[in-house]
Amino acid sequence: MKRIAILGSTGSIGVQSLDVITEFPDQFSVHSLTANTQIERLKKQIAEFKPRMVAVKDEENVKDLPSYQGELTVHTGIDGLVDVVTHPDVDLVISAIPGSAGFIPTLRAIEAGKSVALANKELLVMAGEIIMNAARKSGVDIIPLDSEHIAIHQCLAGQNLDDVQRLILTASGGPFLHSNREHMEKMSPAEALDHPTWNMGQKITIDSATLMNKGFEVIEAHWLFGIPVSKIDVVIHPQSIIHSMVEMIDGNVLAQIGPPDMRIPIQYALTYPQRLDTPWPRFDITRAWDLTLLPPDHEKFPCLGLAYEAGRIGTTLPAVLSAADEMAVDAFLKGQIGFMQIPKVIADAMSCHAKNEPMLNRHSALSLNAVLAANSWARTYCRERFSAV
Ligand code: NDP
Ligand code: MG
Repeated sequence: MKRIAILGSTGSIGVQSLDVITEFPDQFSVHSLTANTQIERLKKQIAEFKPRMVAVKDEENVKDLPSYQGELTVHTGIDGLVDVVTHPDVDLVISAIPGSAGFIPTLRAIEAGKSVALANKELLVMAGEIIMNAARKSGVDIIPLDSEHIAIHQCLAGQNLDDVQRLILTASGGPFLHSNREHMEKMSPAEALDHPTWNMGQKITIDSATLMNKGFEVIEAHWLFGIPVSKIDVVIHPQSIIHSMVEMIDGNVLAQIGPPDMRIPIQYALTYPQRLDTPWPRFDITRAWDLTLLPPDHEKFPCLGLAYEAGRIGTTLPAVLSAADEMAVDAFLKGQIGFMQIPKVIADAMSCHAKNEPMLNRHSALSLNAVLAANSWARTYCRERFSAV
């Protein structure tokens, strides 16, 4: 029986993880849940899953939680998130808070020796070196909770990494695959949130529309599998059936396919290395499928190139990429900037940081302070820029 803590239980990944946990009551129990604003949903989850601990990021939201009887304890703030994931009774932490807010709790969970199913790819973007070093030091597994990386994880099973020619990540292309640039300049948040194949939280849906999500996944794959960014390619595959591929040096290409339903990869991440019968709809081989593969259009989607650049240069530049993206996506959703200004803001933040950060091209170990400083610098840069508009 794995006792699970979920960072972000009220979100898309959190809710689907609880769907999986419900299906396998002999395998999993919910130790703790965390939320931020969706207190009504959290209350229902508490009633159904009876966790021992909950944590709510903003203290003011806790007043909406009734005082619970029994063994449940309620915690607040970042310290509260850290308290629940590091509790001695927790076996596995699902890290599913978007952006940098989940960074410290996830890092502390790894340092406390917890296995982590990592949905929050931004953590590997901003601090992959620190996260992977902490996992090695604690001897814990980081299991990707992202469909592409779970595909690669399965394709690489039993393979020698020296025999890998390249990783090929598939991308749906998002809602603007066939839009022209002029049209994209005027895209509203509602249009950008209308993803053709996946139903996800707002931040990752906008990241998918700009292709920044795929850029983040290139950096995520680099850290998870130890493959250089130069050997990781992206291909557009609108049907989201092939979840990713691995090309071997002898020319064989291994692919993992399945329906676009996150509960299948979530089940894999939670049960690994075991496999269990799935209750979710399976890939229907009796119907006709078109499997299209197209090269990405870097001119229309500059975020992809920005992520490659940050991944290639490394050190603190990916932390600036991630923080500037978080701020730019938030500003777009609030109607403060247009869709095509998202890559512009991020590119400007990166080049300003590159000019002012003499450490950028040195190959010394990355410190936690340097990452946090770069994250905070990029937020201030963006905030000042938006307030000047
Ligand atoms: P959602 O926006 O749906 O959910 C986010 C969760 O995090 C909610 O529980 C939310 O609480 C909580 N949260 C948000 N901000 C904070 C904060 N500042 N402090 C504490 N908790 C916070 O996101 P997703 O589930 O879609 O995505 C989660 C992560 O998983 C992202 O990093 C994403 O890139 C990754 N991912 C998602 C996939 C998907 O299919 N959705 C696929 C692969 C990766 P509340 O709602 O209560 O405010
Ligand atoms: Mg993905």
